[in-house]
Amino acid sequence: MSDDFTAHLKNTLEEIEEAGLYKRERLIAGPQGGRIDIASDGGKREVINLCANNYLGLANHPEIVAAAKQALDEFGFGMASVRFICGTQTLHRQLEERIARYLGKEDAILFAACFDANGGVFEPLLTDADAIVSDSLNHASIIDGVRLSKAKRYRFANGDMDALEDQLKAADADGARFKLIATDGVFSMDGAVANLPAICDLAERYGALVLVDDCHATGHLGEKGRGTPALTGAGDKVDIVTGTFGKTLGGAMGGFVAASKPVIDLLRQRARPYLFSNSLAPAVTAGSLKAIDIAEAADDRRATLARHTKRFRAGLTEAGFDLLPGETPIIPVMLGDAALSQKMAAALDERGIYVTGFFYPVVPKGKARIRTQMSAALSDADIDTALEAFIAVGTDLGIL
Ligand SMILES: *Cc1c(COP(=O)(O)O)cnc(C)c1O
Repeated sequence: MSDDFTAHLKNTLEEIEEAGLYKRERLIAGPQGGRIDIASDGGKREVINLCANNYLGLANHPEIVAAAKQALDEFGFGMASVRFICGTQTLHRQLEERIARYLGKEDAILFAACFDANGGVFEPLLTDADAIVSDSLNHASIIDGVRLSKAKRYRFANGDMDALEDQLKAADADGARFKLIATDGVFSMDGAVANLPAICDLAERYGALVLVDDCHATGHLGEKGRGTPALTGAGDKVDIVTGTFGKTLGGAMGGFVAASKPVIDLLRQRARPYLFSNSLAPAVTAGSLKAIDIAEAADDRRATLARHTKRFRAGLTEAGFDLLPGETPIIPVMLGDAALSQKMAAALDERGIYVTGFFYPVVPKGKARIRTQMSAALSDADIDTALEAFIAVGTDLGIL
């Protein structure tokens, strides 16, 4: 590698460091859970975990682990093939049919991750004659997927239904053949739920399709965990749902698109991350299947999650923290300054509370925050301990 290039990389890394924006990964020395072991000085220490997407606490559920182990024995470790060559096992079709049935759609298609599902869903369905109208706070993978398609792009301010209508009109004025509105179901950094009834009404009026990325909802929000279409009453007015097995549904990995059969059939022919990437590992596929069964029946876990959400939000509000409003288990504590978010995360870590400070470019500049996430794997006592720590650290740092 040329010296110039190496020097350039080192410079960039130093700039990131100097801006206080360098991300360091902490090492976990065990499974994911409500309490986790952090590797520390050759040993480990236990912390309360407020930053996993493990909403129902299924990431290390014994029945899911057992299903994955059984699949290892019956179906082996890996597929060493893409789906259409020799990478489709009975398990893969079972998972596609199961997630489609769970979400009330005709069919579904698996991807290695939802990042790939979003990366691959737009390009085969829409051409340069068409329009994609996208919420400004959509996940990075939707932004990338939209970029990879040839459709004309229109963006509306987060959750602003007048702005959405303006963009639909603009797409019509530009002569769009088909229009597709793309939105996150839950905006992951804010915890807000998309206004799907209003979006679907506008879609109906302007003849647009609706795509919802429900990564932060599938499994824990709405009736039986069927996500934001169920939660908001928009139901089957949502045409296409993308989602992940890497969060509530076991938390391993894998993404999907669920929709009508022609949509899924065409994606199977044309979606590039599907055609040119390896098939999901059998253990992950079987574990995810079991996770859907457990999530669908887990009203008790959803109730625990809702109780923690209410208790933690109320405690932080009473203490005087600046929270974004909302009802999902994502509770962002707004701090503004990136360096302060890092300082606060470090101080909480010292008190045994595991959180992550988020700052630009993950969230807009000047809107740094600690994003906390509730989990059914936490106990009531964990929530109280976490609240005490937040109040102590908030006082120390002059936030309260
Ligand atoms: C997590 C997430 C993704 C990516 O999912 P993976 O399966 O981890 O790739 C996509 N969209 C949203 C909204 C997410 O929160």
